[in-house]
Amino acid sequence: MSVIFVTGGAGYIGAHMCKLLAQAGHIPVTLDNLSTGRAAAVRFGPFEQLDLTDAGALSDAFARHKPEAVLHFAAFSQVGEAMAEPGKYWRNNVLGALTLIEAMLGAGCKQLVFSSTCAIYGEQDGVTLDEQSAQAPLNAYGASKRAIEDMLRDFAASHGLRSVVFRYFNVAGADPEAEIGEAHDPETHLVPVVLQAVAGLRPEMQIHGTDYDTPDGTCIRDYVHVMDLARAHLLGLDWLQAGRESRVFNLGTGQGYSVGEVLARAEAVTGVPVPARFGPRRAGDATRLVSGSTRARTELGWEAQATLDDMIRDAWRWHLRLHGNAPPR
Ligand code: UDP
Repeated sequence: MSVIFVTGGAGYIGAHMCKLLAQAGHIPVTLDNLSTGRAAAVRFGPFEQLDLTDAGALSDAFARHKPEAVLHFAAFSQVGEAMAEPGKYWRNNVLGALTLIEAMLGAGCKQLVFSSTCAIYGEQDGVTLDEQSAQAPLNAYGASKRAIEDMLRDFAASHGLRSVVFRYFNVAGADPEAEIGEAHDPETHLVPVVLQAVAGLRPEMQIHGTDYDTPDGTCIRDYVHVMDLARAHLLGLDWLQAGRESRVFNLGTGQGYSVGEVLARAEAVTGVPVPARFGPRRAGDATRLVSGSTRARTELGWEAQATLDDMIRDAWRWHLRLHGNAPPR
């Protein structure tokens, strides 16, 4: 049993991680400033409400809990917002990570699992992306995550900080028990936006761009279930606790779906047509982001199990739980 710090533990992915950590016998301590997270999602271990740029509060938390490792989820993560307010992304994501790393080293904690992103890759001509693919982020979100990866390499060389970096593709779905799920406000991610439209919580959803160079003209993404993702993090912790060297892994299924295909699957799973309207491209979006996950499979022994239908079904169950069991219109 280990004490594990989970930054962003009140957020979507972090809360699922805390549940899995607790089930695996660990003590997940959530560090979150509740800027986008929800206190109600912190149910599986202690809660420290603090901002990661607050060095004093951080070192105090490290001194009291003495964590063995840190899982660093806390970050702003919306492409549209990153295009409009890049400073917010550079300040929060990069400064937060830097302050966290320095607090870790001050406390002698040298094991970090870091949430990076496929947005690091940017536009890559239809190839399946592996960890060596060129990096060309199209927005401040991806750029801030790439900067943190660079930072980790520097601190590995100078201070022996070891990290597992996970480059997530598009995370969707919810806890199959519907105890927790995705609840951003405002919501911008495709699957929950589609479900809000299905439920009548928004009059319609907008398809951001129909003139991409893909079979139906909409962007292609690789959707991975949040619980599959959380399982990968447990393996990442094992990797570090076994004394292994720092490593970067893509986490996706290797299967791409267009926005149009996601809508079709949502209609099939919920049995309700998705009210949708075609809109312009969203700035900062790459045409196609699909993961080559060979490294995670061969080195970590991780493979995504859930299908896109599983993700939509679990997200829908959570949606009904969150907003009441009113039948969709
Ligand atoms: N998308 C869309 N309408 C929405 C939200 C998203 O068409 O209301 C598209 C978006 O342009 C992208 C894909 O769905 O091509 C996934 O977007 P999301 O914001 O969920 O994740 P991202 O890929 O930005 O991390």
